[in-house]
Amino acid sequence: MQGDMHKVNAGHLKRSAYLYVRQSTPRQVQENTESAKRQYALRQRAIALGWHPDRIVVIDSDQGQSGSSATDREGFQKLVAEVGMGHAGLVIGLEVSRLARNCSDWHRLLEICGFSDTLILDEDGLYNPADFNDRLLLGLKGTMSEAELHVIQARTRGALLSKARRGELHVPLPVGLVYDAQGQVALDPDQQVQQSIRFLFQSFRRQSSACAVVRAFREAKLLFPRRLRGGSQEGELLWQALDFSETLFVLHNPRYAGAFAYGKTRTRKTLDGVHQIKLPQEEWYTLLTGAHPGYITWEEYQENQRRLRENAHALGPERREGPPREGPALLQGLAVCGICGGRMNVAYHVRAFRPGRSVPHYFCQGRSMDCPQPVCQWIPGLPVDQAVSDLLLEIMTPATIDITLAVQQELQARLEEADRLRKQQVERARHEAELAQRRFLRVHPDNRLVADSLEADWNRKLCALQEAQQQYERECQKDRLAVDEELRARLHMLATDFPRLWRDPSTPARERKRLARLLLEDVTLIKKDQILVHIRFPGGVTRTLEVPIPLNPRWTPPSVVAEIDQSLDHYTCQAIADNLNSRGVTPGWGKSFHRSMIARIARDHGLKTRWERLRERGMLTLKEMGRRLGICTDQVKAWRTAGLLRSHLCNDKNEYLYEDPGPNPPRVGRGAKLPRKVEISENTSQHASEVQCEA
Ligand SMILES: [Zn+2]
Repeated sequence: MQGDMHKVNAGHLKRSAYLYVRQSTPRQVQENTESAKRQYALRQRAIALGWHPDRIVVIDSDQGQSGSSATDREGFQKLVAEVGMGHAGLVIGLEVSRLARNCSDWHRLLEICGFSDTLILDEDGLYNPADFNDRLLLGLKGTMSEAELHVIQARTRGALLSKARRGELHVPLPVGLVYDAQGQVALDPDQQVQQSIRFLFQSFRRQSSACAVVRAFREAKLLFPRRLRGGSQEGELLWQALDFSETLFVLHNPRYAGAFAYGKTRTRKTLDGVHQIKLPQEEWYTLLTGAHPGYITWEEYQENQRRLRENAHALGPERREGPPREGPALLQGLAVCGICGGRMNVAYHVRAFRPGRSVPHYFCQGRSMDCPQPVCQWIPGLPVDQAVSDLLLEIMTPATIDITLAVQQELQARLEEADRLRKQQVERARHEAELAQRRFLRVHPDNRLVADSLEADWNRKLCALQEAQQQYERECQKDRLAVDEELRARLHMLATDFPRLWRDPSTPARERKRLARLLLEDVTLIKKDQILVHIRFPGGVTRTLEVPIPLNPRWTPPSVVAEIDQSLDHYTCQAIADNLNSRGVTPGWGKSFHRSMIARIARDHGLKTRWERLRERGMLTLKEMGRRLGICTDQVKAWRTAGLLRSHLCNDKNEYLYEDPGPNPPRVGRGAKLPRKVEISENTSQHASEVQCEA
């Protein structure tokens, strides 16, 4: 200590002393108070060396930060700044080389200390970085400290990996699994926790969709356990609503299948920070199946992963990259939601009246993945596909290709013009460089001053020439996209072929979609009063189409419903359909009305059937009429045919309801011949389908 005194001079004492206190991790801050005590004891050394206690500044804002890089350590940065500005006469630290365990940080600090004549003090002694021997020693200390850190890391990492390889590494377990008293992994003894997890896997088994699992939990009003990590309530259970990401976490976690897995991710340091990359299962560091009890079998886990991958192809974010699929929806993978900006999904429906043909819909799930919310928007696919398809046919004609080629030619001409100008620039630069060279060569070498300045000039000109040449080559590269005759012919052929290929019913939907992907960048859909279709072509050209929203197939104009209501008093469904068709009234879809359509409209609008209406009017059925007259049903039919009974056609199956004959029913004597001359108009396609047979 006494030996160090001569290094301290009045200049040092005039400036402040900076005590830098650091502990690597928050746990060290809590537990390793000894080291902190040693660090603060160094303060006494500074006082002994002659610094006034008030002039000793303590920097301890980096408590709990690792020393391996100075980037995030505010305190260390502050220290360097103070030293650089010459405010520091002394820097104090416990084993100063640990100030920064990264050599570059350390050497920078040493250098700055050397320039600003700042001393460095640690438990071993006092150093003057301006002095060669001291600097050498400090440099060595820094290098050794970094090496020590490396060895420690390698040793701990090696121990950790070999434990992981044997499956003995204790890592935090997901909820539902716990370490027992012997340190073995076991199912959580809490039955409610177990049942929640089993319910999750059962739901997935049934529905094959993580979204559906979330919905099942919400519908059953079930909560899912979560174990708190850290904080004062560490290890306690928290019951919360299950969300989508958590469901995926459980489904993807191999530990629920009783497998020990380690090294499923890899961290990679890049300039913009540290990134974690998920590795495929084959590249995991360790995978030991059957390592401990689980909730599902390993086979089921693998099956779940396969299903999740399939779902991701159909609905997940990767679906843009996914290949065009077999369904007819043209904009699969191209449709973008105009409300939230997300990718839209495709759903297919099969309509009862058009069996065998699936109808596409585009819909955006928006936030409905995470919590069951209504989807953003739901857009009928057929009219949108039709509009986009028409547009593609419109633009892909030989005429438009000709225009495109003409524009291309014009651009080519301009490019050639620009090329000539650029060539001239290069020539001029070369000429100037040659002039400068000649000027330099003409000067006598003894005339150093002039020769130097001319040489510099020559150098500048050479640089300019090189720059001009490089620029020229760069531009040429860009312009080499010209269209030659062969390509032109091929484009022409494509334009002629395209409509044929596109319209050909035997072209698979997948091929049509491939073509669409070549021609379209994406298509944004917004449903308002009509569907707005914003189409973006590669190259940035956009077009907007307005597509009317098709009528709901179940929608029938109120006037038609009212007419059906009235007509049912007098006519059967078939007769009503024939009547409407003959007047040219058409339904919301399809070409014409038919019997079952009228029946369905009546049912949908709560109208009474013709049968109900006639019964309300007191009409009797065949059996009732037979009982009423005391004759068998065949006789009733015969009497009706003979025109003895008033009857009404009640449906299209040729069934009748009979008017009550009143107090004087017709009497026909035994064996009497029934009159046969009454003609019955039963032509149901006429309005007069109501059969009125006068007695
Ligand atoms: Zn959306």
